[in-house]
Amino acid sequence: MVGGKWVLALAIALGLMFSAPQAMAKQDVLFGGAAITGVYYQVALQISNIMNKHMGDKYNYIGRPTGGSVFNINALDRVAFDFAVAQSDRNWQGYNGAADWDGKPITGLRSVFSMHPETVMLVTRKDAGINSLEDLKGKRVNIGNPGSGQRGNAEDVLRLYGLDYTKDFSAEQLQQNEASRALVDQKIDAFFYTVGNPSATIEEPAQSVDLMMIPINSDAIKAFVAEHPYYIMTTIPAGTYHGIDQDIETYAVTATVVTNEAVAEEVVYDMVKTVFDNLEELKASHAAFRNLNPEEMLQGLSAPFHPGAVKYYKEKGWM
Ligand code: GLU
Repeated sequence: MVGGKWVLALAIALGLMFSAPQAMAKQDVLFGGAAITGVYYQVALQISNIMNKHMGDKYNYIGRPTGGSVFNINALDRVAFDFAVAQSDRNWQGYNGAADWDGKPITGLRSVFSMHPETVMLVTRKDAGINSLEDLKGKRVNIGNPGSGQRGNAEDVLRLYGLDYTKDFSAEQLQQNEASRALVDQKIDAFFYTVGNPSATIEEPAQSVDLMMIPINSDAIKAFVAEHPYYIMTTIPAGTYHGIDQDIETYAVTATVVTNEAVAEEVVYDMVKTVFDNLEELKASHAAFRNLNPEEMLQGLSAPFHPGAVKYYKEKGWM
């Protein structure tokens, strides 16, 4: 009965073919954050949680720690991630070919939405003897790892205060989790960091040593901020961190979620729709997200919107 066996085999093969859609693997979606103790990693993890909870039969979202904004934009350019977080100044510079991308614009960079504001901060220990930017002379200072967003901000601030990190002090390039530890262990005297508040990277050291923040608000800084649409002057309210009891004036950027034009419209649409349809969940997932609102989340983005995001914003009448 060779013929009968053949028919049976064919029937099984056809059965497998037709049941294939249910058995099809979920699509992995990689979301780049930054340092493990920063807020970007929370953006990547919390959006991944929301996606896996609401669309887990279609996608498998994975949040990844990374070196930060500049690393993320470069990784997106290679489509090594589907989504990542980047500062609004890096979003502008990447798309327009400035700073780290001087003459080499990342033309495939696409905006999805804005997240929380991030402040440019200089954090020190009270016993380090640093009361102003000028006091950094002769100290050990973390200026941020290459690939981080804070690195470029630290370089701008130092230049605008007339300091040269190759000569005036001993500059470290630690990843932020190491920098927080090194400040507690007295291996460095201060670090620059650009992050949403509150951030564990400052909350944790604030529990074991007395910290201070140095205002970054000279006239040169204010003029620089006025020249760039993606910077604003702001104040970190007293009491945001344990022991830091005065308002600290500095400048701020916005964290932006970005992608590559090569990522499928459906993938971006599904993510944007699921995030906005469940925005209360995202807001409740981290203190830095509690003031998110749709109107502001469509602002501050320099790279063009991805068509998958535009589709949802038009459906909502937001565009
Ligand atoms: N703004 C930092 C950067 O780009 C990351 C801050 C965070 O991890 O929340 O690289």
